[in-house]
Parts: sequence; structure tokens; C-alpha cells
Amino acid sequence: MNLLPEKTVERLSQYRRMLLKHYCKEKQFIFSHELAALLHFTPVQVRRDLMLIGCSGSQRKGYDIKNLIKLMGEIIDSKYGQNVALIGVGNLGRAIMRYLNKKNSNLKIVAAFDINPDKINKELGGVNCHHSDELSEVLKKENITIGIICVPAEQALQVADSLVKSGVKGILNFTTATLNFGDDVFLEEYDMITSLEKVAYFSKKR
Ligand code: NAD
Repeated sequence: MNLLPEKTVERLSQYRRMLLKHYCKEKQFIFSHELAALLHFTPVQVRRDLMLIGCSGSQRKGYDIKNLIKLMGEIIDSKYGQNVALIGVGNLGRAIMRYLNKKNSNLKIVAAFDINPDKINKELGGVNCHHSDELSEVLKKENITIGIICVPAEQALQVADSLVKSGVKGILNFTTATLNFGDDVFLEEYDMITSLEKVAYFSKKR
């Protein structure tokens, strides 16, 4: 299968979470318009996405929910799961670790890193915190391919460089620093302020 568009992958993740929530013995099938309504998408969008991953439903019953969940898992997840490292075990970092590791997900934060001596060799947010100097060694040992950056913005570039040099292939950057890698590394950036300002702008117009 060709590389899927980023927005499609985002929607597949949303479909799967919604389906997992709604799947039960009484409801084994779902129509595109039902799934669309749950997520405020259009039925056409849902059908297009599902067609892209080679899934077609029956006109009479809709889509088999269990099959959909399985197929989406095969596309989004890796066979043996993917290990994640978090760098910067401050307020945000700890909240992320607690949140993500509570979910029984294919993605697991298995190591955390900081430079504050008070945090080193302690279990924070359920994960052991190493000194950043050990990054390369631990990443290789734990087979970590994804990094989450939660350090102060001025430290982000140096942390990102170390992650890439240690073989990481995907980075989720929570800082405001602008990072740039070639096609070898997939970069996703998230900024709460942008989201909140979007809400503020549209709420003013209501
Ligand atoms: P914090 O000060 O509580 O935590 C930062 C942690 O990074 C500290 O534990 C510090 O010791 C550690 N650190 C500093 N340099 C390091 C390095 N080189 N290697 C490893 N660890 C290092 O800060 P916070 O409130 O948790 O915020 C962390 C980052 O996330 C900041 O850049 C902040 O602007 C950003 N942030 C983003 C969002 C968002 O929505 N994207 C939300 C909150 C915070």
C-alpha cells in the first residue's frame, strides 16, 4: 500500500478509537453515516478513507466493526509495538507519561530522560528517568524509534539532534522550537496555544 496522507492516518486513529468504544455484541456492524456522525465527518469522507485502506462494507449491513478495527491496527501499528522515549520529565512530560502509559496501547514510553540530578534514576510517571547523556545507549538497548520532546524550547534542537543520531525515526515536538529534518524522520508538532487561540477566535464569532 502507498503511504497514506497524514490527515487520513489521523482520521483512521479517530475511527479506531471510536469503534473500540462502540463495539459490543449487540452492534457488530456500522454504516459509514453512523461512524461519520459520531466524529462529525461526512459519510463520503469515511467511505473514501475506508476505501483507501481496501475496506468495503455491505450495503445492507454496513462495515464489520471487528474487521475494521483489525485492519486499522495492521495499518497504524507495528507488529511488535513501538517503543517511545520522552525527553524532559517536567510538568508536561510527567502528565504525558501518566496519560499514555495508562492506555493499553501499541505505543509505550519505556524510557525517560532529564538533566536534573534530582530526577535521575527515579521512577517518574511510571517510567525510569535516565540522564540525557545515556540517551544513545538506552535508545539502542530498548529499541526505541520514537521520541517525545518536552524540554525548554532552547534545548529542543540539541535534544532532537541526539534523538536522530540515535536512530529515532519519528519525533513529537511539544516545544515552540522550529525543528527540521529530512525525509528520514517524521516530525509532528503540537501547540496547545494555537489550539486555544483557534477556539478563542471561533468562539468570538458565535
Ligand atoms: P518544565 O520546566 O516543568 O520541564 C522541563 C524539563 O526539561 C525539566 O525537568 C528540565 O530539567 C528538563 N530539561 C531541560 N533541559 C534538558 C535537556 N537538555 N535534556 C533533558 N531534559 C532537559 O517545563 P514544562 O512545563 O513541562 O514544559 C516543557 C516544554 O513543553 C516547554 O518547552 C514548554 O514550552 C512546552 N509546552 C508545550 C505545550 C504544548 O501544548 N505544546 C504545553 C505545555 C508546555
